[in-house]
Amino acid sequence: MSITSTIPLDANGVHHGFLKLPHSRDDSAWGSVMVPITIIANGDGPTALMTGANHGDEYEGPIALQEFAITLKPEDIKGRVIILPMMNMPAFAAGKRCSPIDGANMNRSFPGRPNGTVTQKLCDFIATQLVPKADIVLDFHSGGSTLDFLPFAAAHILEDKSQEAACMAAMQAFNAPYSVRMLEIDNLGMFDTEVENQGKVFVTTELGGAGTSTARTVEIARKGIRNLLIHAGILDGEVETEPTTQLDMPDENCFLFSQMPGLIEYLIELGDQVEIGQPIARIWPADRTGIAPAECCSLRAGILTARHVPGLVKVGDFISLVAEEVC
Ligand code: ZN
Repeated sequence: MSITSTIPLDANGVHHGFLKLPHSRDDSAWGSVMVPITIIANGDGPTALMTGANHGDEYEGPIALQEFAITLKPEDIKGRVIILPMMNMPAFAAGKRCSPIDGANMNRSFPGRPNGTVTQKLCDFIATQLVPKADIVLDFHSGGSTLDFLPFAAAHILEDKSQEAACMAAMQAFNAPYSVRMLEIDNLGMFDTEVENQGKVFVTTELGGAGTSTARTVEIARKGIRNLLIHAGILDGEVETEPTTQLDMPDENCFLFSQMPGLIEYLIELGDQVEIGQPIARIWPADRTGIAPAECCSLRAGILTARHVPGLVKVGDFISLVAEEVC
């Protein structure tokens, strides 16, 4: 195991430190990748693992978890909270989705390899040393630099129905403005899948995007952390609930992808209702005049839940996610 923790994983109290991964390179021959970690623990009780910046250009998790790491007091909890606000530190430091060191997308690299690349080693440590200690795992995402989402918490459809019910209950406790029963289009190597395969309760989020955070989306993250820890029995108090819209993603017709490059014009906003066959966006040529735009029409009725940013698209880029409201 080449990664070591500078703080104890099992001690009571508050410990701030790093996961230290030796990384010999041109600018630092005996250097290390240092991933910040805080552990707050108080006696017996469940363990929550809370992670941000799995993708390095998603910011609500890092902000809300940084704040939580300096405000949560051990005497306020029973059990333990393990906080990794910048789980994929190399990507976060570069402001990129993927690690600039090995080009890897952390959320496609689980369970990792102890003798692999930097990203694979980090995944291996998290999967073998941290996830097994956890009863509940919350992994913050938002759209990053190329997507924007309605703010939602999500849980997955799982084979083990009692585990699925526990994940759905935790997702409802998070209480984002939207709650999604989520279908993944590409779940191989995801942190989500690794945590679920270990039988844990798992909640993920998509809280916004477009390469930044907003006051509203950070507040959703902050409330979600508290609610989830109360739900898990780690923090005292009442889960604070506001109305949430339940969304379902029944099949792949939820997604649209671009079949031509160009300048994208969205015709509706996130949160708007769309009918089957209705154009969501149209794509103008980016290199000539005199040609009409191509329409991107929804394959189902529902609510526009995610869209592409910024203004240009390539062939194959994601255009839209339309989810169905569940009454
Ligand atoms: Zn993400």
